[in-house]
Amino acid sequence: MRTDNMAKSTTILWFRRDLRVTDNPALHAALAQSDQVIPVFIYDDAAQTAPSGAGRWWLHHSLAALKETLARLGLPLMLRRGDEKTVLTALTEEYGATACYWNRRYEPTAIETDKTLKAEMLSRDIRVESFNGNLIREPWEVKTGAGNHYRVFTPFWRALQKIGPARTQAPAPNSQPLEQCSDRDSDDIENWNLLPKQPNWAVGFAKEWNPGEDAALAKLDAFLDGGADRYADGRDRPDIEATSRLSPHLAFGEISPLTIWERTHAAIAAGTVDETNAFKFLSQIAWRDFSYNLLFHHPQLPNTPLKPEFEDYPWQDNEERINAWQSGQTGYPIVDAGMRQLWKTGWMHNRVRMVVASFLIKDIGAHWRNGLAWFEDTLVDADLANNCASWQWVAGSGADAAPFFRIFNPVTQGEKFDPEGTYVREFVPELGDMPKKYIHAPWTAPDEILAEAGVTLGENYPKPMLDHKAARDFALAAYKTIRNK
Ligand code: FAD
Repeated sequence: MRTDNMAKSTTILWFRRDLRVTDNPALHAALAQSDQVIPVFIYDDAAQTAPSGAGRWWLHHSLAALKETLARLGLPLMLRRGDEKTVLTALTEEYGATACYWNRRYEPTAIETDKTLKAEMLSRDIRVESFNGNLIREPWEVKTGAGNHYRVFTPFWRALQKIGPARTQAPAPNSQPLEQCSDRDSDDIENWNLLPKQPNWAVGFAKEWNPGEDAALAKLDAFLDGGADRYADGRDRPDIEATSRLSPHLAFGEISPLTIWERTHAAIAAGTVDETNAFKFLSQIAWRDFSYNLLFHHPQLPNTPLKPEFEDYPWQDNEERINAWQSGQTGYPIVDAGMRQLWKTGWMHNRVRMVVASFLIKDIGAHWRNGLAWFEDTLVDADLANNCASWQWVAGSGADAAPFFRIFNPVTQGEKFDPEGTYVREFVPELGDMPKKYIHAPWTAPDEILAEAGVTLGENYPKPMLDHKAARDFALAAYKTIRNK
């Protein structure tokens, strides 16, 4: 307990990808242990963890929401821009901080930054405390019997369920009786120019998304109160809304996986969600932990194939074809619908992400890093761990990856998962009047059907840019050259 003759303690609470107050263990501890807490967000656009393109749109709105929430609690959010290490060091000096608290990050360069900062602060007698606020379990806590980390998801998931979370949720803070700092020294977020202006390509985002913690919690609750009813059998269908769409909220830490874990278990107990749907959903949350586990133990994951033989794969980085893929002009409707959904809304359905990724890697033959970079720029949920683990999974070069020879056929995938063609019609309106029999392969339609639907291939919708069967044979032959290495 503090006494009056103790020195005043001032803690800097460094917000990163944990833009929330509910279940924020670093915030909770800082408030419990300090006389004054200065919540800070640093925008360092050169950092590996800085959002690109679509993510900046999200960050702008998420910070605005956080600022409002913190203001209600009497905690003005300080915004600063620049190199993370320089800005944080300067802030500790400016405010005479005695401690700095944060929730941990796992991206390789972020770990380096945090380690350097911690050593530097300790050398100035500033206490540093870090917490697990972003994963169910730390990557070093889920271990095989032999003490290694898992490289295969199913046993990882089994082990995670067995040990469960290490803590319970940290309660959201109440209004603070602490001494307050003023936000007069804060940057104005409008000056950070995070929103696109000319052109404003994010018009469709605002219709689709509501960034911020309140919206994230409300979305989870609605999902657990009826929204998850079709999760297990419908999560592969892009034409129905069966999944939670919590990914951007999780990517910015507006909701913690532990909150999801606890509320899902509570919903099972209350009977508002059945166990099959609930556990399938939690297993996807565990895939997120698994991706972080892989990134932490294999920091080269964003650039280098985990299976080294893939270094020698003969990639064909054909720019024209990659551009057609990016702009949804491949002539394969399910691929084009996915890429246009991504551009329009900043998000793409998981099944379609797998289809478009397989198409880029195995049909076009482009290196998966091209797809990783495009997703990084265009997804509102871009998350380094999930993104690179997933691209390597589809490429067949990652841990517990799909085998390379599993090459998605874009026509049969469309027919199976978008059987009425509803999803394609929504994002490829040129095909709006195509009958469902031909919607996933319009080039097979008789001329009169195409004419009736107002489709002229090569004019108002592209002819297929390549022959899938020939591309598949080419990819399998290319794979043979590296398989036995
Ligand atoms: P739900 O099905 O409701 O799942 C709930 C949460 O679990 C998601 O929000 C997400 O955080 C996590 N999750 C679900 N599926 C996966 C998965 N396969 N791997 C890891 N976590 C998962 N997800 C991202 O969050 N960021 C990315 O940058 C990203 N890039 C991807 C790239 C490719 C090529 C592929 C195939 C998948 C990628 N994913 C990524 C995983 C997945 O597509 C999305 O997490 C999911 O579509 C988000 O929708 P949702 O929130 O409705 O998911």
